[in-house]
Amino acid sequence: MKDNLINEFDSLLKKSKNTLIIPHKNPDGDALGSSLALNFFLMKKGHNSLVISPNEYPSFLNWLPGQNKIINFSLNQKKVISLIDKADLILTLDYNDLSRTGEMESILTSADIPFVMVDHHENPKSYADLTFSEPQISSTSEMVYNIISKLDHSKIDSNIATCLYTGMMTDTGSFRFPSTTSKTYLIASKLIDFGANHSKIHQNVYDNYTFNRIRLLGTCLSNLKKIKNLPVVYTFLSQEDLRINNFKKGDTEGFVNYGLSLKNISLSVIMIEDKLQNLIKMSFRSKGSFSVNKFAKIYFNGGGHHNAAGGTSLKSLKETEKKFMNAIQECKKDFEV
Ligand code: 5GP
Ligand code: MN
Repeated sequence: MKDNLINEFDSLLKKSKNTLIIPHKNPDGDALGSSLALNFFLMKKGHNSLVISPNEYPSFLNWLPGQNKIINFSLNQKKVISLIDKADLILTLDYNDLSRTGEMESILTSADIPFVMVDHHENPKSYADLTFSEPQISSTSEMVYNIISKLDHSKIDSNIATCLYTGMMTDTGSFRFPSTTSKTYLIASKLIDFGANHSKIHQNVYDNYTFNRIRLLGTCLSNLKKIKNLPVVYTFLSQEDLRINNFKKGDTEGFVNYGLSLKNISLSVIMIEDKLQNLIKMSFRSKGSFSVNKFAKIYFNGGGHHNAAGGTSLKSLKETEKKFMNAIQECKKDFEV
């Protein structure tokens, strides 16, 4: 992280009072953890700072410090529009394209105030006045740690540490993905010293399944299919599967990873039917050289990281499955077999 960027950020902060922090739509542990941590930091520096989530966040994050103050745009559109009117700085965390805020995109695009991006995805768009973009860093939370420890290390407390540790843990698959570096561990260690309770955080996030969620995972695993002669598995959940198991937002989080725990599998995919939005939400996870970022971009109007990406399909579940099978055949040569 370059010092001149930190200095520019510092002077932007000095010129502003009313700051808004906006994670992406369907925020995950990293988006929410990094946003809440930065929010605590800015409040300690005397800002009127708020986190606005484009929509509801999953219940496995509803214990995070500060989460009860988050404003949900989808439920409070008028309030958010007036907050944006009064804001003098907007910070966008864990995405690099305003379309990732869903219905907030047009409001943000027309807001005439400085924007700061803090993100670790590839190919950032150029909407921000100040862009922190580091695709090699494991999480936005790790970036936020680097930024705030340079700005004012003494302001890091147990709330900030807990939020950042949660974001780092969730985006690194509990510190096991290749993006995890010795620096990631070093920061995690410092966060524990600042008061993050690693064992409690892990329990809060991962040992928090409802009975329905485990049953839904059962359906997801029994729907699993293997593509012949390729190291690829995929599964799906229909709207009916979701309905029967009383689906709640966030219930399918992490399901796609189970496919990768199979021996000799380097791509795992899940397709989830969303009848309300009339689309199929896809998640892709890979190991090794197969780029799901590229795959999602080319075939399913999505993107993400080299080994973790998402996308959408506007076809039916059956048609999406066919399209996926054809796409895989086209990419056959990209698998190390
Ligand atoms: P997930 O599969 O957990 O929804 O997302 C995995 C990664 O892909 C995340 O880093 C997320 O930001 C990114 N991602 C998920 N869905 C989309 C999408 O529709 N478009 C783009 N560009 N990225 C996505
Ligand atoms: Mn992230």
